[in-house]
Amino acid sequence: MSSVSKLAQFGKKHIAHGIGRSTELVIEKAKGTYVYTAEGKKYLDLTTGIGVTNTGHCHPTVVKAVQEQAANMSHGQVNIFYQKPMLDLIEGLLPRMPSSKLDTFFFWNSGSEAVEAAVKVARHATKKQNIIVFQGSYHGRTFGTMALTTSKTIYSAGFSPLMPGVHVAPYPYFQQWSAHKADPEKFTPEWCGEEALHQLELLLKQRSDPQDTAAILIEPGLRKICDKNDILLICDEVQSGFGRTGKMFAVEHFGIVPDILVMAKGIASGYPLSAIVSRKEIMDKQPAGSMGGTYSGNAISCAAAKATLQVFDEEKLLDNCNARSEQFFKGLREQIPSLLPEGVTVDIRGKGLMIGIEFMGVPKGFANSIASEALNLDTILLTTSIYETLRLIPPLNITEKETDLALAKVVASVAAAVE
Ligand code: PMP
Repeated sequence: MSSVSKLAQFGKKHIAHGIGRSTELVIEKAKGTYVYTAEGKKYLDLTTGIGVTNTGHCHPTVVKAVQEQAANMSHGQVNIFYQKPMLDLIEGLLPRMPSSKLDTFFFWNSGSEAVEAAVKVARHATKKQNIIVFQGSYHGRTFGTMALTTSKTIYSAGFSPLMPGVHVAPYPYFQQWSAHKADPEKFTPEWCGEEALHQLELLLKQRSDPQDTAAILIEPGLRKICDKNDILLICDEVQSGFGRTGKMFAVEHFGIVPDILVMAKGIASGYPLSAIVSRKEIMDKQPAGSMGGTYSGNAISCAAAKATLQVFDEEKLLDNCNARSEQFFKGLREQIPSLLPEGVTVDIRGKGLMIGIEFMGVPKGFANSIASEALNLDTILLTTSIYETLRLIPPLNITEKETDLALAKVVASVAAAVE
């Protein structure tokens, strides 16, 4: 591990402990696929600030747009004006929506705020209260979204009571079932998907009647059940959107059009911006003044988002994402399993450049020890979930050469953790 610098100690003293962070690095510069510490050390960044800087850190097109916008107008409060950068951005977003029916927007700053806005819209538009989420979900850490997040108790323990009207549909997880049941063949990911749908139908019969259920919130599926029961489908594409899975939005892989689509993170390459989009008849139901906020849809963030779309076109980011995805999966699947001792297995999965590497039959903390080894090799990796899982979310414009380097670092980190 790198030594904890004086600056990091200062941070530890003055920044709330509740934030939590996976490294003690103090960074002060970031460019492309790399971040640089205050001491000038360079690290390969396979995190993109958790799926945010999809165009790489400080892409020149985005930087230029931000500089120009900052000099021209930084704040155009949405409850006072229409602001030009937001209108320009909407013009750029419209043709990229999964359906032309999704044509009415509302902007915020963070993913959580946008998820909360989607819940407000759904409750108000349907005049129903309940929201269904799935076991294992992550939708944020604000007061409203904390109730919608079910991936780890750390996000809500000690902060109750949570927002009422939220029901959790069980979503069985195949690794768990395979481990505990006699017939591992049966408990496949497909079985889990079918069982989750079955459990949802039961929830709608036993706990949250369709007449009380405003929306089902998920990271992308479920169109049929929502239509049958007059329930809105909210897809949270905060992390999976903006090219992360190889298509602009993950719903496009499944041919599904949500009633409300939630976007954030990759939308503006690192500037705080989030949005919901829905059909006009849904979005216009709330009375004027019931939505909004001081910084919602900040002008500089909107300019950064418009420039981000330009980079998607000019650099064919989706094509690169798919090519690098193939390279990653091939390299990981060829090299990682052979490093593992007997009894340890690995599941390497994902779409596009949203890649999970889950280890089974390993001691608790194994994934964290891989991340520590990676840090020794000047590479930043994230772990995720309550299982021993690594996640790779590199920028969508990572080059072929950088991908080879990333593969070498990940493989070497796994090898070091196994020793
Ligand atoms: N939904 C999903 C799917 C997310 O991944 C995140 C952030 N990790 C959020 C919501 C919350 O976004 P934010 O942290 O910007 O509030």
